[in-house]
Amino acid sequence: MKCLICHAVSNTVHVAEDWSEVACSAGCGRFRVSANLIKSMKGRNESFDIERTRQWLKMSRNDEPVPLISRYDYNVALLHRDTGEKSAIAPSRSRQPLTSD
Ligand SMILES: [Zn+2]
Repeated sequence: MKCLICHAVSNTVHVAEDWSEVACSAGCGRFRVSANLIKSMKGRNESFDIERTRQWLKMSRNDEPVPLISRYDYNVALLHRDTGEKSAIAPSRSRQPLTSD
């Protein structure tokens, strides 16, 4: 099957009742995704932010060699948002003179 994060061809190592373990050689490494998250992502046509998710996995591997991405983690840190951050820039910021040097 495909990597759930970057969609490269990858190996599904193990499928349990509550999660699937995937080994992606394209850069994501080994991780687990909760079955609930997979289901709800498919239902809503959502996708991972690849860079953010890989970063998150890297950090999580300090504690857990094969991190489990839960629905909670996804909502808090990993949901791919096209809009929002950029439009949230305060208009006053652009009026401030740029101090170079
Ligand atoms: Zn991948």
